[in-house]
Amino acid sequence: MFYFDNFYGKKILKSSLLSDYDCFFTTREFVLTCADRMDLKEEANTNRQFLLDKLSAKGFITAKQIHSDNIETVKEDKSFYDNTDALISSNPDSIMVLNYADCTPVILYSKKDNIAAVIHAGWRGTAKNIAKKTSLKMQKDFNIKPENIIALIGPAIGKCCFETNEDVFSQLVNSDSYDVYTKKGDKYYIDLKLLNKYQLENTGIKNIDICDYCTFCMSDIFFSYRKEKGVTARHSAVVKIKRG
Ligand SMILES: [Zn+2]
Repeated sequence: MFYFDNFYGKKILKSSLLSDYDCFFTTREFVLTCADRMDLKEEANTNRQFLLDKLSAKGFITAKQIHSDNIETVKEDKSFYDNTDALISSNPDSIMVLNYADCTPVILYSKKDNIAAVIHAGWRGTAKNIAKKTSLKMQKDFNIKPENIIALIGPAIGKCCFETNEDVFSQLVNSDSYDVYTKKGDKYYIDLKLLNKYQLENTGIKNIDICDYCTFCMSDIFFSYRKEKGVTARHSAVVKIKRG
């Protein structure tokens, strides 16, 4: 179950599956990445330093996201990953951050192995099965059992508002996923969160929390690229590995 929480005075969204962990989604009240909202740049800088201080972290691990299925396992001496949409890390000293405005954020965490992944799955990433590929890579490279992985599918544009044409629909929906859309006239309304849930289930993960909130409907709390016609900042998925 998802719930809003208070991070030293800032509104964040957490899941009961990882309530004791520093894994959460930020809101407009806690912007870390200003993107096209240059007026929020200073606020984002201040918030990033605030987050480092509060979590006693040395720095951030982040990426230039390009809607790909490129997945990187974080190396000790590298904090920025070019052209990457999923990061896997076991480093407890740094905070992993990826950024979103409507795209689906996914966090994977194995408490037993103390390894986590953060995924940026917009419709293109979802079509490329990035959530599925990240889960499989995490399992294979670190010998993690899927039953030990907790998955959080965070706030993203919902089926209510993700309207597409046939071209996008045909890239996302196949015969296995017929229940993820509604057709109205010549438009398709697709549930990207449910598609990502199916991808994760397909890799053996059972413990999945899925957030009902639509970023377009709730653009007073989250950033929405579609609602704000591209001129918007980003909310973030934040993950810090617990110190052993
Ligand atoms: Zn909506």
